[in-house]
Order: sequence, then structure tokens, then C-alpha cells
Amino acid sequence: MGTFFRNALLVQLDPPTVQTGHLREEAGVIAELGPRVVAVEGDEIVDCDGAVLMPGLVNGHTHLYSALAAGMPAPPRTPQNFHEILQFVWWRLDRAHSLESVRVSGQIGALAALRCGTTTLVDHHASPTAIEGSLTVLADGIADVGCRAVLCYETTNRNTDDESRQGLSENERFAYECQAKNDGKFAPMVGAHASFTLKEESLAGCVDMAQQLGVGVHIHVAEDPVDEQITRQEFGCGLMDRFQQHGLLDVAGSILAHGTHLSEKDYALLNERSDKLTLAHNPNSNMNNGVGYTPVVRLEKPPLLGTDGIGADMWREARTAQFKSNDAGLPLSFGKPLEMLGQSARFASRCLNAKLGLLELQAAADLVLTDYRPATPLTAENLAGHLLFAMGPEFVRHVMIDGHWRLKDSQVVGCDETALRANSVEVARELHQRMVNL
Ligand SMILES: [Zn+2]
Repeated sequence: MGTFFRNALLVQLDPPTVQTGHLREEAGVIAELGPRVVAVEGDEIVDCDGAVLMPGLVNGHTHLYSALAAGMPAPPRTPQNFHEILQFVWWRLDRAHSLESVRVSGQIGALAALRCGTTTLVDHHASPTAIEGSLTVLADGIADVGCRAVLCYETTNRNTDDESRQGLSENERFAYECQAKNDGKFAPMVGAHASFTLKEESLAGCVDMAQQLGVGVHIHVAEDPVDEQITRQEFGCGLMDRFQQHGLLDVAGSILAHGTHLSEKDYALLNERSDKLTLAHNPNSNMNNGVGYTPVVRLEKPPLLGTDGIGADMWREARTAQFKSNDAGLPLSFGKPLEMLGQSARFASRCLNAKLGLLELQAAADLVLTDYRPATPLTAENLAGHLLFAMGPEFVRHVMIDGHWRLKDSQVVGCDETALRANSVEVARELHQRMVNL
């Protein structure tokens, strides 16, 4: 017994394919698809009526700890630069988190993702006053909604040295927990904030731990010039040289988030190491923080695409990636953001040991059934035009993850969304009050 999706427009983003037909899900994977597939007795029948059915989207870099940021207290004074944005806004929010508010952030962040058809999140977590156990409660919150996630804790020396040791331990603890479960729903990485807040022993510790665990390092890189400036002052070398000295560029499966202010030489090095490392591009966040445009056109392989904590709408992120490249005078070839979404899905697939982002036999039944019935012909060749100019989260109607319904007729299934949101208001009120008291 499974689920039979009848009469769908079956759309895969990367590589782009479009076909009309049917799809059968059974035991959490795609069992059959094509024009001649028939339902099996006992299948639940879902009539798609010619609408687009596609794999769930993957957010390649996010921070669910910011899921309760809406309406938070204003910074004590207006930040004048990126370092002050971190100090007065985000580092104040993350220090105010408790384990309870982290769990609720996981629930609310995952709900936001679900409604956008985003079924997997690659997250980078920080809660400096509630470190131990934070990745488990974050995962619990996400699991309440049903999304998959690749999680890590942001190791840093920015508050105390003990914080860095605790951060490393939390990465290790959660990694063993995940690897013991090996359920395809959660996977670990080793998190590091950014070079400019990491002492030598902390950066070395992250690289060693990642190698021991057989996972990648997830770190911010050159989001703003301050990263390179402080690295040069404190450590006497540039960012990429420092990473190279520590062996970070040899850790397979690592994510360098942003890369906005890397040099052409650095980009050449990234291209050389593209079998091991990937950049994560976050154009909306870069615009919001005023840090400038990341010249992703210099990359030979597409980067991951992420929201950096500004929601989970990957349609908007893809559109901004295309538009902003044109605006910055470094235009990407049309449709490149679809390849970024594909890269994000392939990255998460390797971490989670599941086939994500694909409509093929044995791929994960992480499926988004939309209300999108194209008003103009839709083909593999013009799919990017539909995705970037006509489709969007407003068309997401049903979402299945791992063969389980999580959104049906726009209603959340499997958890009480109204109750979660009501509880969240109270938890967020306390979180915002703690920010004021800091
Ligand atoms: Zn980030």
C-alpha cells in the first residue's frame, strides 16, 4: 500500500525534466513513475489534475535560531557596519536562547519551510548560553513537523574560550547520536562560526573532529571584509591561507557560506577543491546586511543556495540569485539558480544517505504537489522561466516527506500547528525579554 499520484505534471529541477503521467510512492520512496503506471489495491489515490508534482526543495544554509526573530527588540543603537549588525542583533538573539526556545525555533522554522515546499534544511546553530543538548532539541522541534535536516553547532571563541570547547563537544555528541540512529532524517556536520572569531586551537579542533567523524565543516567565510581584516591582524595571514594551514580545505563535504569578499585567487583555489568544498550563496541575506554581491559567476560548479535564516522560501532565493546577478553586472546564465537548488539537494543527499531532489525510482518520497497548472507550455527547456517568473510558494498545496503527509490541502498534518504557534508566542515573548535584559 502506498500513494498513487494520478495525472500529474512531473517536474524535476536539476537536471530539468518534465513529463505527464503518474507516480506511485511506497515505503517512503518513489516506487514507479511514468505514463503507464497504475494504482495498486489499497493505495491512497491523489488526483493531481495536471498540476506540477516535484521533489521537495533543500535550503543549503540557514539558521533556525532566528525563526522567532520577527518583532524582536530593536538593537540598542543602529548598527553602522556588518560587525555591529552581528554584535547588536544576531549575537544578542542567540545569547538569549534557552533550550526551550531553540526547540520552538525548530518547530516554527520547519513550519515555515513546509509551507514553501522546502523539505530539508542545512542549518548552522548557535545558542551560547544553552549549548549542551541544543542540537537534539533543535532536531526534536524539526521532527515534530517532519522535515529533514543537516545540523551543526557554531564553534566560536567570541564570548569565552569555554564556549568553544562546549561547542565542539556538542557537535561531537550530536554526531554520535545521529550516526547511531542513521534514519535518513538528521545528519551532522561540524559547525564553526568564522575565522575572525576562532582561536587557533578551536579551528584546529573543528578540522580534527570533522576528519574523525567523517563529516564536513560548515563555516562562514568572507561574508564581510571584517573576516579577512581581523584574521590578518590576529593570525598574520589571509583567510584561505589560514584554512589551508589548518587542513580545512581538505575536509570533504565542507560548506563555506557566502565567500562574498574572496579574491580571484581564492576563487581559483575553491574551483581546484570543488570536489571537496562548496560555497553556499545567500543573496537575500547579503542584500539585507549590505555586505555586497558574491560573484558566483566565478565558480565552475554551482554553489548551494541558502536563505541564511531569512525564512525558507527557496523560490524567492532562486529569483533573487538570478536578478541580483544581473543587477550587480555579473549575470549568471539564465536558469543557473535551478542548478544551485540541485547542488543543495545533492549535498543533503550525501549527508543524509537519501536521494533528494530527484523524480526517479528509489528516490525519497519528499514530494510537493502544487496548484500550479501552467498557462503557457512547460518543457524541460523553459522550466527555469516558469520557476523564476511564475511559480512560487503560494502554489504549494500538499507536501509529503519520507512517504508521510506533512501538509495536505494547505493544512499541517501530524502536529497541531495552532497549538505550536500559540506556545511559540509565549516562548518568543520570554526570549525577547531576555534579549532586553542582556
Ligand atoms: Zn549564515
